[in-house]
Amino acid sequence: MTFLARLMRFLFWVVMVSWGVRVAGRLISALLQPGRTPEPLNSTGDLNAEQSGRLLVRDPVCGVHVAEKRAIPLRENGELLHFCSLACRDAYLNSSHKLAANA
Ligand SMILES: [Zn+2]
Repeated sequence: MTFLARLMRFLFWVVMVSWGVRVAGRLISALLQPGRTPEPLNSTGDLNAEQSGRLLVRDPVCGVHVAEKRAIPLRENGELLHFCSLACRDAYLNSSHKLAANA
């Protein structure tokens, strides 16, 4: 019984100390960086970037879906195409130019 009581007291102090350290750390970081409030412009910019980054476009050459932000855009005949890589874009350009030459 005394062992259990000692164990409980030990666990109680472990929890209290870890909680206190966390609160103290937060207080210290708040004191050291008083002007560090989240900037609304920055956060909305990040949000927009994240939203546009979620848009997926399909590469017409290899059929891979790529994030629009990371894709290589190409406007041809008023149509905006996206490619996963320069190699795919070049392959598309070569094939379309060949078709145009044949026609
Ligand atoms: Zn591709």
